Amino acid sequence: MDYTDIRKNFEKHGFSTQVFLTKEEAADYLKNELQHQTIGFGGSETLREIGLFEALLHNNAVVWHNKVPSRDVRRLANCANIYITSANAVTKSGEIVNIDATGNRVAMTAFGPGICYYVVGKNKITENMTDAIYRCRNVAAPQNAKRVNAKTPCAKKADRCYDCNSPDRICRIMITIDRVPKGMKCEVIFIDQELGF
Ligand code: SF4
Repeated sequence: MDYTDIRKNFEKHGFSTQVFLTKEEAADYLKNELQHQTIGFGGSETLREIGLFEALLHNNAVVWHNKVPSRDVRRLANCANIYITSANAVTKSGEIVNIDATGNRVAMTAFGPGICYYVVGKNKITENMTDAIYRCRNVAAPQNAKRVNAKTPCAKKADRCYDCNSPDRICRIMITIDRVPKGMKCEVIFIDQELGF
């Protein structure tokens, strides 16, 4: 797809951007960019599919609760000086939307470290904010609920949100990043492949 306009719109909002055709090219880029850093990962199927944790581990200290699931590991990841996550949805006009259960990821994207990278497959791109929120609630969240075996009405078929009140509800905090938060640098890495949920 043509990323010219979406890049312009994100850059108007203070983000730097990159576009890669494949996840391997994106992983190579980040491997070159990030060396001798402390890096925290947000929960992400996209990052898992890219194999980014393993790729960065050779030259960095990388903390990811997907490898060691615990609240303490999430807190440790939030002390890193670089943060990498994906997005549940982005808009063509240059905004990012994420839904969290524990809030570790949304916290780091709002008041995080020096630099935050968003790694975004083309399936996350939506026309506008209405579509982005719809995608977060009815596409990304049910699939993530299924992935983590949540006991929620959406997890079985991953077909839509039922706006549950389950103790296992994974949709507890939603954030929209309209502009790069003051004091942070943020880069959106678009990959022209379908990745994650
Ligand atoms: S609110 Fe409940 S039903 Fe809706 S997507 Fe989240 S976990 Fe699933």
